[in-house]
Amino acid sequence: MVQKAKCDSDGSCSSCEGTSSCSEEEKQAHEEERLHQRLAKIHHTIMVMSGKGGVGKSTVAVNLAAVLAAEGLRVGILDADIHGPNVPKMWGIDWRPLQGGEEGIRPIEVLPNVKLISMAFLLPNPDSPVVWRGPMKHTAIKQFLGDVEWGDLDFLIVDLPPGTGDEPLSVAHLIEKIDGAIIVTTPQEVALLDARKSVNFSRILKVPVVGIVENMSGLNCPECGHLIPLFKIGGGEKAAKDLGVPFLGRIPIDPEVVQKSDSGTPYVISYPDAEVTKAFQEIAAKCRAFVKSPKTQEKKGKNKAATAAADMKKRGGKNL
Ligand code: ADP
Repeated sequence: MVQKAKCDSDGSCSSCEGTSSCSEEEKQAHEEERLHQRLAKIHHTIMVMSGKGGVGKSTVAVNLAAVLAAEGLRVGILDADIHGPNVPKMWGIDWRPLQGGEEGIRPIEVLPNVKLISMAFLLPNPDSPVVWRGPMKHTAIKQFLGDVEWGDLDFLIVDLPPGTGDEPLSVAHLIEKIDGAIIVTTPQEVALLDARKSVNFSRILKVPVVGIVENMSGLNCPECGHLIPLFKIGGGEKAAKDLGVPFLGRIPIDPEVVQKSDSGTPYVISYPDAEVTKAFQEIAAKCRAFVKSPKTQEKKGKNKAATAAADMKKRGGKNL
């Protein structure tokens, strides 16, 4: 049975004075407790997924966070793409040393109300590859959640790597009260095939699907304004209909999205009145409505109760 007296409940075993006398079981239990305490202060968590790389998942995560922050909410971004952490670059940060605070690692404040954590901050240089298998990635994501001073957040946006591998699995397992997943796709058939897999993955893990975003949905010709269906148009909406999940909206192709992402300012901050920004604002509004809906709240309550029961069972029927 875990003895709480050996460590203070907020301290991680790697830093508390009782480290040497803590058993593995005690260390694990204290880590779990710490994770629970952190997550309890995060009101809503949305994970952003895609079946394929390059469809604009990080772009959606960053601009969604910027829109929510512009609406006055406290937002965290967890860049859970361990092998390809691009989110800091999209905020104009290549590398920043992470500092320890009294309660853990301090996330980087990219705006006064937007905190960011990413594997990019832990690499010796931007070109260093991360050669890790699943369990190490799981541990890193667990630390990003449990050891980081997120404080009170209205939204935590988790940017995942493409596909249905280790990282989304870890996030879905670690965050018991996850509100839902946004699936980003482009409109062409090959991307849609993979987007369907993301929807089914979410269903298997009982993560509600907030909806599908169709990115790179047509290009308005800069000369004549004519709509060019570069990667086709409407595929994401059709996939949403076929799969019975909400359609969150279309984001057109705009070369300025690339410019702004490369120069490190989210598009929606630079162009508050543009068509692309309006699309992001609508997606943000739908996310806010989704997390507040009685159905989502009820599901979260059930998940929480199920996790608490499982925890109690693990601890032999007693709380820490
Ligand atoms: P992913 O996270 O899915 O790999 P990214 O968000 O990194 O994709 O986007 C890939 C590239 O496409 C980036 O250069 C980004 O700026 C660009 N991009 C994303 N969405 C759009 C868009 N709507 N219009 C133009 N370029 C876009």
